[in-house]
Amino acid sequence: MEKRVYDFSPGPAVLPLPALEQAQRDLLALPGAGVSILEISHRSSTFTEIIEGAEANLRALLAIPDDYTVLFLQGGALLQFAMAPMNLLRGTGKTADYIVSGTWGKKAMSEAKTQGNVRMAWDGSAGKFTRVPKSGELDLKGDAAYVHFTSNETIQGVQFKAEPEVGGVPLLCDASSDFLHRRVPVEKYGILYACAQKNAGPAGVTVVIIRNDLLARGGDDLPSMLSYRVMAEGKSLLNTPPCMGVYMVKLVTDWLLNEIGGLDKMYQRNQRKAEMLYDVIDQSEGFYDGHAEPASRSVMNVTFRLPNPDLDKAFVAQAAERDLYSLKGHRSVGGFRASIYNAMPVEGVERLAEFMRDFRKANV
Ligand SMILES: *Cc1c(COP(=O)(O)O)cnc(C)c1O
Repeated sequence: MEKRVYDFSPGPAVLPLPALEQAQRDLLALPGAGVSILEISHRSSTFTEIIEGAEANLRALLAIPDDYTVLFLQGGALLQFAMAPMNLLRGTGKTADYIVSGTWGKKAMSEAKTQGNVRMAWDGSAGKFTRVPKSGELDLKGDAAYVHFTSNETIQGVQFKAEPEVGGVPLLCDASSDFLHRRVPVEKYGILYACAQKNAGPAGVTVVIIRNDLLARGGDDLPSMLSYRVMAEGKSLLNTPPCMGVYMVKLVTDWLLNEIGGLDKMYQRNQRKAEMLYDVIDQSEGFYDGHAEPASRSVMNVTFRLPNPDLDKAFVAQAAERDLYSLKGHRSVGGFRASIYNAMPVEGVERLAEFMRDFRKANV
């Protein structure tokens, strides 16, 4: 087998090795079915078991209440940026409030504008998106159709530590880059959605957890594929779903349940990994300049810059010599970003922390 490296890509991102190995073992023939997941009918009993199993795993991991529906959709998080307002905002005469703490929140708001009136409930752009808002800073309207926020801003590396308080207004969350990194109180959300390719599986499938009373808000004139209600009635099988993607979500959630032991254990491990890198930053006497304010630091995406961008090339090259890849930051932030999702092994983070200490020593 070709050697695997430690890849800190923001997404598509590292998957748990046991899930990949099982997919490899069963790629030519699923046990009991005799055909590949790539060949099997989405109406077969084998696939029904897989998609129901993936949902059951998610329900177990997140203690999803019974009055919530779990959907497996296509179109990525970006389609949800439009689908949510299409179903919950369009034609209501209301406005939707957007908490914008980074690039993805901004994009979500601009997509929603195509469907109705949106308001900026908080804008972190003047502060270069280095933190999330404090509770008193939100400018919320009590009669908004919903409030939208991004639990973890993948590009800036800023993350909410708790849900914003929004009263009785439905809370919508793009959790693409921190879905399943810890347990969250699903009952606080109207809709919690996440594309799979950061923390839950491969590209091509998006998980949408929606409170049942919101399913019916979309008008009857919506195209079927864009209606939460129709997709729920069709049990995500209105048309051919991304079978391979759903299968991988099943294997990843099997790993979380059976090998990790649930999301509290996963969160402990994630915090430990993040601490290792933030400790290096904090103990570097200013050599590493963390982008996020400490209280808003992400446990998933660690963003930092070097004292001099002339060193960037050497950092990338020397990291690669230690099998550490995909560390370059987004061009809008500069510097570096280590994405340390659930599946990034502790050893990968240890190796990166050691490299960062050595690199500093050689270059201060
Ligand atoms: C990656 C990402 C997206 C975009 O997801 P797509 O599936 O490519 O549409 C949106 N929001 C966040 C927070 C992300 O990390």
